Amino acid sequence: MTKVKFKLESAGYCEAKQSYVLKGTSGKTIKFYATYGHIEHPIYGHILFDSGYTRRFYEVTKKLPFKLYAKLTKVFVTEKEEAINMLKKKGIDSHEIKYIIISHFHADHIGGLKDFPNAKFICSEDAYNDIRNKKGVLALKKGFIPALMPKDFQARTQLLCFKNKTKKIEGLGKVIDIFEDGSILICQLDGHAKGQIGAIINAEKKIFLISDAAWLKENYANLHLPSHSVRLFFDSWRDFKNSLNRVHKYSKAYPETVIIPCHCEQTYLKLKNTE
Ligand SMILES: [Zn+2]
Repeated sequence: MTKVKFKLESAGYCEAKQSYVLKGTSGKTIKFYATYGHIEHPIYGHILFDSGYTRRFYEVTKKLPFKLYAKLTKVFVTEKEEAINMLKKKGIDSHEIKYIIISHFHADHIGGLKDFPNAKFICSEDAYNDIRNKKGVLALKKGFIPALMPKDFQARTQLLCFKNKTKKIEGLGKVIDIFEDGSILICQLDGHAKGQIGAIINAEKKIFLISDAAWLKENYANLHLPSHSVRLFFDSWRDFKNSLNRVHKYSKAYPETVIIPCHCEQTYLKLKNTE
């Protein structure tokens, strides 16, 4: 199995109410970091898992109907926090990013796609089919802002289909070994968004990027559900609970794996502080 290097970064954040993220808790405001993974593969080079926010978000939400997105979600991102600039600081040019794995098509995950002209995109066929022709209000209902997509997206994209795959992880279900070397395994985490995927990364410590299958550690560790009102924005509440249960089981079966919900402040700060 090939080992890769992994680092969790964040490109901005938005604010959310804790009572919305954890049912029955106080309504205090919490920070929802827009994290993304930076993977260094010995053969395939620099790879991102999601891309966080960029200041482009402010541009593309100036007009209706997307103005409503910005109204519902207060976003904070500065130039130096954007993935492209964070990588530049590490001496990595945007052209060197070879792949971007897209967990799902919400704005906090695809905000930086346009900044990486050489990247091939990897996402699930179900996720892409769900948004590909959506515009205006129909797109907004999916949390999708078409203007964030590179024009040549389709030509640069590899769509993953789990249908005829047989490789499985006990309790988690089917996985796709994208480079066939055990370095990055992709799994299905439907519910929050149609066709959402997660990734198990074979780094020094094993990492499981679960995207928005849980927002906080508390969600999957104690099966503490979000408030009922979030159902309105989810693709399927039933699938969401199923995915959350599978992540919960995985966390019990593999306690040494670092599980990373994309927006969990506690997980993000803990990783930052142990670097
Ligand atoms: Zn999302």
